[in-house]
Amino acid sequence: MTENMFPAFFRESINRQYGAEISAQILSGMQQPRCTSLRVNALRASIESVTAALETAGLTFEKLPWYDSAFLLPAGSETELRSLPLYESGGFYMQSLSAMLPPLVLAPQAGADVLDMAAAPGGKTAQMAAMTANKANITAVEVNAIRAERLRHNLQKLGASRVNVMVRDGRKLEDFFRFDQILLDAPCSGSGTMLLSDPTGIRAFSEKLVRNSAAIQVQLLRKALSLLKKGGTLVYSTCSILEAENEAVVRSALKGSSAHLEPINLSGLNDLPTLPVSLEGTLCVRPTKLYEGFFIAKFRNT
Ligand code: SAM
Repeated sequence: MTENMFPAFFRESINRQYGAEISAQILSGMQQPRCTSLRVNALRASIESVTAALETAGLTFEKLPWYDSAFLLPAGSETELRSLPLYESGGFYMQSLSAMLPPLVLAPQAGADVLDMAAAPGGKTAQMAAMTANKANITAVEVNAIRAERLRHNLQKLGASRVNVMVRDGRKLEDFFRFDQILLDAPCSGSGTMLLSDPTGIRAFSEKLVRNSAAIQVQLLRKALSLLKKGGTLVYSTCSILEAENEAVVRSALKGSSAHLEPINLSGLNDLPTLPVSLEGTLCVRPTKLYEGFFIAKFRNT
């Protein structure tokens, strides 16, 4: 039984949370190779130029109904994509489909003060810069200095020119900061990204990692909510499908906060594979051949 290759704690957790039938679907989605996907970087290229480059290279691809900039390619296309000149010049960025969702849900606005609170390697920071044509004032925070270097490199390559990178523990940001929009793509156990074909990812997962991640997530989310302007919006996301890192974190952070959950409403997402959630309005993506498991919650401060 290949599903026994996944950690017992994970299998028990999803079984308890989702029941046997949905757990089987989750494990099945983790046993097939996941498609490769890329996001066209409008700061350096157009959808037409990326389409032409893929066609010239003989690469097959599909488009998705919910995001013009997303291209889906067969699993294992990374090497061929990296060899394209448009990759080198930052015309596109390889990003999982699920990881493209949080910036779309946050919908950063030109002129807004935007915080990306756990930013490296920067796929979502650069996506927000592209969505606003470099017209938002983005602060990208990353605690790990080496990862922050990678973040700077990626932002430079992708032409995200209006981003201030801070190497800092997001929990210790000064209290006087205030932001219109905040993305907290929190460090997590990665339970939604596990794949049978990636034993390293499976080995990295543990019960202790879930516990430690949940503790940091609550602290980061509380801090993020405290930095949100009145009327401002915040998106909390993880690539975990476990309630302990998702709904439980949201519930805990909301206690004593003036913010409330706002239902996630994105057009074209009807076909998205989802998992049941215990907090109405939040979204949990089920791992499949196309998508990695992902959780998203949106808040508004009142
Ligand atoms: N948003 C990123 C992207 O799209 O490329 C991925 C972020 S990854 C899920 C979480 C990041 O948070 C990691 O780079 C990790 O080093 C960083 N991190 C962990 N704890 C942190 C903290 N206390 N403050 C700021 N960043 C933190």
